[in-house]
Amino acid sequence: MHNVIIIGSGPAGLTAALYAARANLKPLVIEGLESGGQLMLTTAVENFPGFRDGIMGPELMAEMRAQAERFGAEIVAGDVTAVELAAPPFVVRVGEQAHETRSLIISTGASARLLGLPSERALMGHGVSTCATCDGYFFRGKPIAVVGGGDSAMEEAIFLTKFASQVTVLHRRDRLRASKIMQDKAFANPKIAFEWNAELVEVKDVDEGVVTGAVVRNRETGATRELAVDGVFIAIGHTPNTGLFEGQIELDANGYIVAGNGTRTSVPGVFACGDVQDHVYRQAITAAGTGCMAAIDAERYLESHQESAP
Ligand code: NAP
Repeated sequence: MHNVIIIGSGPAGLTAALYAARANLKPLVIEGLESGGQLMLTTAVENFPGFRDGIMGPELMAEMRAQAERFGAEIVAGDVTAVELAAPPFVVRVGEQAHETRSLIISTGASARLLGLPSERALMGHGVSTCATCDGYFFRGKPIAVVGGGDSAMEEAIFLTKFASQVTVLHRRDRLRASKIMQDKAFANPKIAFEWNAELVEVKDVDEGVVTGAVVRNRETGATRELAVDGVFIAIGHTPNTGLFEGQIELDANGYIVAGNGTRTSVPGVFACGDVQDHVYRQAITAAGTGCMAAIDAERYLESHQESAP
């Protein structure tokens, strides 16, 4: 029987682990398939306080992990396959293995959203990507397209200009959603072109098994044309990883966990932190902050229920 199990190992989960470990709760972290979370897919993180020259995403996550382990957090590989949250003790299943716990912290994060085109799925990893920092290198000297108009899309587009000969941003409206500073950077970059009211309708060429072009429909005129590109990066936001919890705890209309009064969910003893419950801020530092809150909330819950192990 565990005091607290933490599902997920991004900044939220590892900060919760650090605080829970320091509170002597001996947390078990089940890290998930995407160990370290979304920061593992980034390069320089320049807005995490304490690193004036920035730090690489994977390095920051390695530090957080080592810090949590130093205080006794147990971090295990594995992806949770089912949870039973009807009443404590809660059951967390990893395949055949079942773990029981008095409290649970959910920090499963969010995953990249896709357009849902058959050609997008067919060519994923063969020229279609959701991660510029992972795949940008493959497009040296080649033209590519980035879909989206938010901060993620601008960040990816700017990053990709290090490799690509030309980056065309395809945005479905005539105005960007991205913050002013990111817009300014993107507009000032001579390698970035913008195509407005542009809907990606097909990625070519599924038969050849590589990306040769993007079929784009102008949403105002209805006209369709093919843009010759060797890569298509999808940067249209994220979906919370809450499939495991559907029907067991309250989710909002977009599938995010509803957390209030700190990090409490609709099930007493179950807490949520990080991007799985935050579609507004979505920053490493806010995820870490809510991870800290979740550990403190769990500790107080365990104390008040006097169910903490001696
Ligand atoms: P976002 O702000 O939700 O933007 C998603 C973009 O994708 C929007 O422009 C949206 O178009 C477009 N989009 C969504 N679904 C689409 C579809 N089916 N087809 C075509 N286009 C679609 O997501 P984000 O850019 O990932 O940013 C999320 C949050 O993280 C934001 O708060 C952002 O500020 C933050 N962030 C910050 C930084 C940074 O500061 N360096 C970097 C990355 C992210 P519409 O505009 O028409 O809705």
